[in-house]
Amino acid sequence: MRRLALVAAALLVLLGAGVALFTLRSGPGEPGEPGLSAAAAAHPRLPEVRRTMEAYGPLIAEVARTAGGESLVVGHEERAADVAALAAELPAAVDAVTAVWGEEWARTALLVVADSPAEFAGLIRATGPVSPELAAAAIADPFRPGTTPAGQRVVFSPDAGRRLGPDGLATLLRHELTHVAARAVTSDAAPQWVLEGFADYTAHRARPAAFAATAPTLTAALRAGAGPADLPTDADFRGRDAVQAYERAWSAQAYIADAFGEQAVPRLYRRLAAGPLDPAAEDAALRAELGVGRAELVAGWLGWIAGQSGVAAAG
Ligand SMILES: [Zn+2]
Repeated sequence: MRRLALVAAALLVLLGAGVALFTLRSGPGEPGEPGLSAAAAAHPRLPEVRRTMEAYGPLIAEVARTAGGESLVVGHEERAADVAALAAELPAAVDAVTAVWGEEWARTALLVVADSPAEFAGLIRATGPVSPELAAAAIADPFRPGTTPAGQRVVFSPDAGRRLGPDGLATLLRHELTHVAARAVTSDAAPQWVLEGFADYTAHRARPAAFAATAPTLTAALRAGAGPADLPTDADFRGRDAVQAYERAWSAQAYIADAFGEQAVPRLYRRLAAGPLDPAAEDAALRAELGVGRAELVAGWLGWIAGQSGVAAAG
């Protein structure tokens, strides 16, 4: 009853005052409901998360204008700082993803910040235990490849803001938005070095940092003479060295951008992300897109990361 009455009240306000009101934010106690501006309360995507999230406490929400329209960030009062930070970062983050991927995505987003591990698990629709290390996840309703996925949302863990800090949270947002943008052409069975490397490439591109700052564990391994011999396997992303697996995947995409031009990065993604690839198929896809096979790509990448980390490339 409460939900219906409040949404109806927000709609009446909008109808009476015209579209301009849609961009206004009202504070707690103003028309709408406590913690939700009229624009947030009336946002068409609020109901998708409202039922789950209200079980964990009253909602707060902010509307952010991004390239494709009105985006929405939802959380609870205890995570108000994260909600505000994400809403402030969202327009630039959408643009950063579009700069690499292009405009073939909604360029709006629904972000939600969980207040507890249980809420986080519910919002990402986890069917088993969730690692306390998981900072965020981008999810979508099941969809047929080639169609536009519905129900896409980025869910942030309760600890993400506190543990990552503002810069880390901004980078995480870009990473997850990249998954959202590319979802329609992405198979979960595609190689993880492609999916995660591309998301990290887009995430770090707008805020370039030294190689050692972006890939500290990889740099340390290289300087210790214990660098990788190959691209990370899918299992590497779940194991003890998952952090380095992400850094290796990022560095592979950064190398491809450097050696073959940045346009090669999203082109290669579209070719490699559509499904599982055995080594022969991966080799053929790389040859078609980059003009080199897998062995040559890996050799070039290993030489590049050796140089970037200050370790002389092996001869
Ligand atoms: Zn990811």
